[in-house]
Amino acid sequence: MSSATAMAALLGAVFSGLAVALFLRRRWLRVAAEASALRDELARERSSRAESQAAQNARQQALFENMLEGVLLLDASGRVQFTNAACRRFFDLETDVRGHTLLEAFRCNELSAVATEASKAGRVNGRELELDGGSEARLLQVNAVALMGPEGRPDGILMVLHDATRLRQLESTRREFVANVSHELRTPLSLIKGSVETLLDGAASQPAIASKFLDIIDRHCDRLTFLIEDLLTLSRLESGQLAINYDTVPLRGHVSGVLEDFHRKADERGVRLLNEVPEGLQARADSDRLDQVLSNLVDNAIKYGRPGGAVRIEGRELPEGDLIEMSVVDDGPGIPTEAAERVFERFYRVDTARSREQGGTGLGLSIVKHIIQAHGGEVRLETAPGKGSAFRFTLPAVPLSPTGK
Ligand code: ADP
Repeated sequence: MSSATAMAALLGAVFSGLAVALFLRRRWLRVAAEASALRDELARERSSRAESQAAQNARQQALFENMLEGVLLLDASGRVQFTNAACRRFFDLETDVRGHTLLEAFRCNELSAVATEASKAGRVNGRELELDGGSEARLLQVNAVALMGPEGRPDGILMVLHDATRLRQLESTRREFVANVSHELRTPLSLIKGSVETLLDGAASQPAIASKFLDIIDRHCDRLTFLIEDLLTLSRLESGQLAINYDTVPLRGHVSGVLEDFHRKADERGVRLLNEVPEGLQARADSDRLDQVLSNLVDNAIKYGRPGGAVRIEGRELPEGDLIEMSVVDDGPGIPTEAAERVFERFYRVDTARSREQGGTGLGLSIVKHIIQAHGGEVRLETAPGKGSAFRFTLPAVPLSPTGK
């Protein structure tokens, strides 16, 4: 082989070697780029999975924290693993109790007993716990379930705590209400029955005695009618069935109309009725319901006020907001402080015998309160023993138009 040929062969080998090397390098670079893109892709996927896991955890956390029920999770060794906000609130917990035993954390033997029972029996349903420590007395209903891990090994206890305090209060209010209604119905009914029996036993033939018993029957029939009317009104007000038909009510004229109905009763007790509401005061109110409010308050002021005294109806515009304050004021014996807080409760009376004797149902002020609240107003009592009583309530004001209407 000539040296030129050998040179050409060598150059050929070198070039083809270089070409192969270049090809391999390009190929390697492409593989490396693909591998890096794959790595990036994997990293992106991992981080988006972590983000969605974090978002899911945050959602779960928000869900637990905002639940009305308390949630408490114990681990397999009986230590607190998780508590939500409601659970911490029920027990007035201010520190982090995770890792503590149930008794250390909650200092409640009954709760520990529920956990022990759940771990033995698998679950405990509707166990009631009375908590009287902390800020207020509470009744909790506790459900607990033992959790099982893989291979059926005990893996902790989950407790859900339901605050049944309000339910219990409602139940006792309902029971008290039924007892009161039964009592209020039974008393006039037994007087009516007794009078009828006396008449049947012969009193009917003696006109003077008969009229006395007929009078008792008449009064107690009225009392039953008032009671049933008041109960129906109260029930409609409480269930929101009684619609409030708003109108513009000129108050001075309205009060005059109400007082007309009470002149005879006031005269019998020598009570003066004074309409001190200024002209031009107008409220946005249901005229019939306002009638009911004023009638109840004026009736009470005459009944329980001072014989020979005075009952004033006052009205004024309040400086704050667009409100009018109306007051029914008497100069009677007033109401003791401890009773003043309760007179708006159904069937509460300061002097039960006196109220019954006057034909009272014990529901008047409760009706007043509901009607005023339905108007968005408030009612309050200012009183002191021996200093009379002032029942004051607010209503939305209607400003006079420039034409004075
Ligand atoms: P009642 O039908 O017994 O009058 P209310 O609900 O209207 O029922 O009033 C509740 C109680 O508040 C009355 O029984 C009475 O003891 C007391 N009370 C109401 N108004 C007055 C008042 N102006 N002065 C003194 N006591 C009053």
